[in-house]
Amino acid sequence: MSVQILAVGEVMLELAPAGESNGKKLLALGYAGDTYNTAVYLARLGVPTAYFSRLGDDPYSAEVLDLMRKEGLDTSSIETVPGRTPGLYLIANQPNGERSFSFWRGQSPAREMFATQASTALLEERLLQIPYAYLSGVTLGILADEARVSLLRMLANFRARGGKVVFDNNYRPQLWRDREHARSAMAGALAVADVALLTDDDESRLWGSGEEADILDRCLSAGVAEVVIKRGPAPVVVATKAEDKGYSDRQEVAVPPVDQVVDTTAAGDSFNAGYLAARFAGESTVAAAAFGSLCAGVVIQHRGAIVARDVFMTAVGGRVK
Ligand code: ADP
Repeated sequence: MSVQILAVGEVMLELAPAGESNGKKLLALGYAGDTYNTAVYLARLGVPTAYFSRLGDDPYSAEVLDLMRKEGLDTSSIETVPGRTPGLYLIANQPNGERSFSFWRGQSPAREMFATQASTALLEERLLQIPYAYLSGVTLGILADEARVSLLRMLANFRARGGKVVFDNNYRPQLWRDREHARSAMAGALAVADVALLTDDDESRLWGSGEEADILDRCLSAGVAEVVIKRGPAPVVVATKAEDKGYSDRQEVAVPPVDQVVDTTAAGDSFNAGYLAARFAGESTVAAAAFGSLCAGVVIQHRGAIVARDVFMTAVGGRVK
């Protein structure tokens, strides 16, 4: 089946606390990354999805590739860079129950996407073959300035040919020199986005306001046709723009309560997958937001970004088109 959506970003090794043995901490190895998480859930939901990234030629890169294929992702746009290893992060549980993250991702080959003509040409060619491209604030944040400009230019050309761009703001301050740096890049991405899947917390930290009216104003100035505002357990806002007008169609979609929230990692990523899968199946923005919340509701009841396939499919499978 031809690919519907190409997600561009970075997948990393994840080491999470897994108890102790003989006075040593045990860590459980997993693989995660915001755009990768969304790609995996999209594939599970039956959407033909490809992932665009760069990995090394070490055993862990090979394992990620193998996992991606098992999840049904198209990996033909993943470049393997000899002698390199992927990024890594460790999760630490704080005494107060919060989790903190430490990253080793400076050397990650994904950070050099679009730094060379060859890497740029790979995306340019791939974009000729697919209707939707997906990226996030993390995709933007890991790139060098020139590479980011080059990515946004390719996406603008892609749109000029009728392609659609989906953008999730996912603002991670540590990836940026300062807030101004992030603001200008995020505004550039919004300007090429057809669908913006935004979290109010990230908007608030980035722009100083996560108020719905301010978010919609920014999206309107950027010309975004379809906006979704995720607000944790509070209702999701969906708004669509009529030709050259404001967001005349704006609705709130209740989020089903979840009693046992275990770990909210990838809540937004899995929401996005559910939302997009439903939209691709022809459902309304309201129905799509409800399905996004259903997917996120399953993911936050389990540890880690990627919930076991059978658990996820049992919980949402009946709804897959
Ligand atoms: P992010 O993970 O990007 O920070 P949010 O926290 O807004 O995004 O969560 C994304 C979606 O996950 C929400 O729109 C909602 O559907 C679901 N969700 C998040 N937190 C909860 C919660 N405590 N209870 C139920 N659903 C939640």
